[in-house]
Amino acid sequence: MNRGRRLRTNPLIRGMVRETRASRDSLIYPIFFEEGNNIKAHIDSLEGQYRYSPDRAKEAIDDCLSHGVNKVLLFGIPKEKDSVGSQAYAENGVVQQAIREIKKEYKDEIYVITDVCMCEYTSHGHCGILNGNQVNNDETLKYLSDIALSHVKAGADMVAPSDMMDGRIAAIREKLDGAGFINTPIMSYAIKYASSFYGPFRDAAGSAPSFGDRKAYQMDFGNMREAIKEANFDEEEGADILMVKPALAFLDVIRELSYNTNLPIATYSVSGEYAMIKNAGKQGLINEYGVMCETTTSMLRAGADILITYYAKEIADAILRGDIG
Ligand SMILES: [Zn+2]
Repeated sequence: MNRGRRLRTNPLIRGMVRETRASRDSLIYPIFFEEGNNIKAHIDSLEGQYRYSPDRAKEAIDDCLSHGVNKVLLFGIPKEKDSVGSQAYAENGVVQQAIREIKKEYKDEIYVITDVCMCEYTSHGHCGILNGNQVNNDETLKYLSDIALSHVKAGADMVAPSDMMDGRIAAIREKLDGAGFINTPIMSYAIKYASSFYGPFRDAAGSAPSFGDRKAYQMDFGNMREAIKEANFDEEEGADILMVKPALAFLDVIRELSYNTNLPIATYSVSGEYAMIKNAGKQGLINEYGVMCETTTSMLRAGADILITYYAKEIADAILRGDIG
């Protein structure tokens, strides 16, 4: 008889034959920075997550490092918004301040990645410059490049454009190279679907569009070949890492991308995924910790090398315990 159970008899042998391994090295924790002083505000739509002012960055980073998480992805929430999102590329913008605070304290102990987009900074909440009710792609590229450069000048180790404009990887690469930052990598939100899973983030970052939706630039969730096309464009333009976002509803896309690129693949397990697990756990419907371990493993098993997740610290602890990987 074929006896598959022989390899499942105890934790030691199950650990030995496990196919999917996890490492704390691959975790990135997203942090929201809000303009102001002495702020640590709970984000009600994302239980357990906070908005910090730049002067309290040390608290946020210390917490990450205490779990062995040493990569962060920064988002900014400015006080003032305008039609061109000028606080996104301001030398003293909220993200630029946060980067300087972090790098002043830690230098190379923590790897700082910044989200590059305009939606948190524009009065209309769209990810680019508007012409009437349409986002003007080519006009937006100049702004995105300026945002990326301002982050890198402030000390960011990597930039991650999330806008889904065409040609932005090439534009940002050219801008960074021209300023001498030839070794600063770009992680592209290459395959970003127009998704209902972003809801809690939009509350957290105050970035919901004031009219319409983002379907004219983010992808249709029915499409796979188009996803690979988008990823290939970004690879040709010089992206160093490709991202699939969201994660859980798009595991097949992660897998397909893994057959179609030699670049590292990141996936962003977004706010709605976190909130679903958190809230179902809180109501006693599921075991939150168990579902976190299982869903995290599914992303790695699908082919992701890097995970961006609000659970990064808890996942790091679970990896140490041997519950993941
Ligand atoms: Zn955006």
